[in-house]
Amino acid sequence: MQGIAIRLQDLRKSFGRTAAVAGVDLEIRDGEFFSMLGPSGSGKTTVLRLVAGFESPDQGRIELAGQEVTGLAPFERDVHTVFQDYALFPHMTVEQNVAYALKIRKVPKAERLARSREALAEVRLAGYGDRRPAQLSGGQRQRVALARALVGRPRVLLLDEPLGALDLKLREQMQSELKAIQREVGITFVFVTHDQEEALTMSDRIAVFDQGRIAQVGTPAEIYERPATPFVASFVGTSNLLDGEVARQVVGAPGTYNIRPEKIRVLKESAEADEPEHATATGTVADVVYLGDATRLLVDLDGGGRLTAVQQNLETSAEDVAAYRGTRVRLQWHRRHAVRLPS
Ligand code: ATP
Repeated sequence: MQGIAIRLQDLRKSFGRTAAVAGVDLEIRDGEFFSMLGPSGSGKTTVLRLVAGFESPDQGRIELAGQEVTGLAPFERDVHTVFQDYALFPHMTVEQNVAYALKIRKVPKAERLARSREALAEVRLAGYGDRRPAQLSGGQRQRVALARALVGRPRVLLLDEPLGALDLKLREQMQSELKAIQREVGITFVFVTHDQEEALTMSDRIAVFDQGRIAQVGTPAEIYERPATPFVASFVGTSNLLDGEVARQVVGAPGTYNIRPEKIRVLKESAEADEPEHATATGTVADVVYLGDATRLLVDLDGGGRLTAVQQNLETSAEDVAAYRGTRVRLQWHRRHAVRLPS
């Protein structure tokens, strides 16, 4: 059975009058790639710092592998933190940087060397050991920071926006590498990010933070397909809410519903619904955005409200797309894709 790597119970931390963490309960499993996702200021970093022991909570309990660590110093916890700015020693070689923690722990030299070479190989930097940090690219420096964390074989690795300083292309490349490395080494990764796409592509599970609390925990598909609150629906992906009178008309029941844009088909106004389980609504195209591979249409519904639909450009060209503006359309989706949100 899979064990619990981290358990947080009613964790709270305020700075002055700001409740940075306002009651967090969470279990992270052994070997998981777990992301904490949320906007700036939602409390993710503070939770990470509480787990690392850099901050102490006002209230609550922190367990690592079943042992309470709430009052312990950072070095007494079997975790390692990787920061966005890498914090490499510039005057040391890559290998010395990686071996440093082992030297402090008085690991014999031959073992230090063997283990740091192994860690460098794990992050695909074998052969770079003699370089200095200044002679590496941003992505390589990030991987040295990772090797330095892996060399001590912590039970848990805490990563605070580690890809934040990289440009988009490198960032995407590092996302898949980081995930592959995590799978290979099998260490629990707790990854803080405000980038929803990053969290969706890399994680086994995600906790979405909203104002110091967790709004939802789930797999990427659960979070995306079944958002638990309007906040989650809008923060993860494009929210497309139907509520009030228009929800009653279109869905047939009151409430607030979210429909993902790619689940909506755009048909001619005169089209009939394909199947009884489809819902439809008519409206006028208010705006069109050509995205290259797809087109985004904003449609003002006759019953009130506005929905965004995204269509793959299978046969449409940029010229066809421009002609959509102002036209009358019928939107259609499967009823199960109108997901009711708790009010
Ligand atoms: P970001 O993505 O910007 O890092 P975050 O979700 O990680 O945001 P936190 O850094 O945890 O958010 O901050 C949560 C709240 O606590 C913010 O309002 C922040 O200003 C406040 N805060 C965090 N650390 C401190 C501190 N040391 N002193 C005072 N206020 C703090």
